[in-house]
Amino acid sequence: MSECILIVGSGAREHAIAVALARSPQQPEVLCFGSARNPGIAALASAYTTGKTTDAVAVARFAVEHQATIAIVGPEDPLAAGVADALWSAGVPNVGPTASLARLESSKGFTRSLLDTAGIDANPAFERFTSMDGVQEWLDRFPAAHVIKDDGLAGGKGVKVYGDHLHSLEESLAYCEELTAAGRPFVLEEKLIGQEFSLLSFSDGTTLRHMPAVQDHKRAYNNDEGPNTGGMGTYTDADGSLPFLEPNDIALAQSINERTIAALREQCGEPYRGILYGGFIATATGVRLIEYNARFGDPESLNLLTLLESDFVAICRGIADEKLDSVEVKFNAQASVCKYIVPEGYPEAPRKGDDVVLPSGLPSAVTTYLGAVDEKDGQLVATGSRTVGFVAVGSTIAEAEALCQQACDAVSGPFFFRSDIATKPALDLRIRMMKELRAR
Ligand code: AMP
Repeated sequence: MSECILIVGSGAREHAIAVALARSPQQPEVLCFGSARNPGIAALASAYTTGKTTDAVAVARFAVEHQATIAIVGPEDPLAAGVADALWSAGVPNVGPTASLARLESSKGFTRSLLDTAGIDANPAFERFTSMDGVQEWLDRFPAAHVIKDDGLAGGKGVKVYGDHLHSLEESLAYCEELTAAGRPFVLEEKLIGQEFSLLSFSDGTTLRHMPAVQDHKRAYNNDEGPNTGGMGTYTDADGSLPFLEPNDIALAQSINERTIAALREQCGEPYRGILYGGFIATATGVRLIEYNARFGDPESLNLLTLLESDFVAICRGIADEKLDSVEVKFNAQASVCKYIVPEGYPEAPRKGDDVVLPSGLPSAVTTYLGAVDEKDGQLVATGSRTVGFVAVGSTIAEAEALCQQACDAVSGPFFFRSDIATKPALDLRIRMMKELRAR
């Protein structure tokens, strides 16, 4: 039976998913239920509809109507809203966890408690709160080194880090009071110092297959300055690790992912079928978990799916059928660098409506993924968020970075990108920081 795969979501992540599916020797039919019409996905899809991706009933109806054999939910909001549950109920297996298991991302306190209960040593000091009771005392323990997190999904705006977003005890207390008043549970955590990296795994609930480690860059401007964004760019290294990590860091992160999936199965009684995205930090005292996401990262997935050598359709089928142990999962042993072109003013007041002219004649080592882009009368137009992601591969990070930079430089108009990501000075800085931390 040939596969018919529904993609839920319409950003560059979902474009990368569509491209990886289209590369499969199985030549699946591709469908899309997106919040917008992405011309990159539309070119690969036999049916495309736009609507609210959190509308579980509408998504399941579309899947059934078009006889989808598997679905892949890209973003977090539909997972938290139970889109995977609705798809499974409608007889469509989904790559992406049910709402109960997606609490790994939709409730920060749930995840911290799960790890604690299971004896997985990867948490910072933390405590969950629903009122101001005990908040002052907790903050007094970590006066200049704490993080305050809205427990639920807040579009990346719920986390405030002392020294970054908060600069006094008064400001920290005020944020806790704001969350309490809004009736939002929150978590206080010790602030960890080190280098962050992501380690994603395919999971069928029992078997995990790990992907190469990736480092993202959240800040809008060079040298990690400016406001936080969805992620401006990412890189991976040819050996699957990162230049500032030690082999044991990767092994630890993989093992934390494995033990978390086993703990989830034990606690919730159902298999986690989807992508597990571990956001880790390498510290002076080892690897700790910053957060879990229940889906592919954006831009991490742009690198990872470009590098994926094995048949992505077979992997999705293996996840859905809980038979991932019998599927080959191999990544190209090359380095990759991804950079996003974004509109001037992004993320606070992005320009919208400017023409996007893609460079022609890019080398085959560069793949172009469309994000917040519309098509009007045959012309690509930016809609005001991360616009185009270029992923370059090469035998070294330096080679991939040079190619990626060339592609970004070739886009004219009122856009910008981070020219520092994955450059030698940026990598040296991270290696030096980790060396100094580990020497303490
Ligand atoms: P999260 O949404 O939990 O990933 O948090 C967003 C960002 O806040 C992370 O990427 C980190 O840069 C920072 N962060 C979160 N938790 C901590 C922590 N315990 N220590 C240091 N930084 C943190």
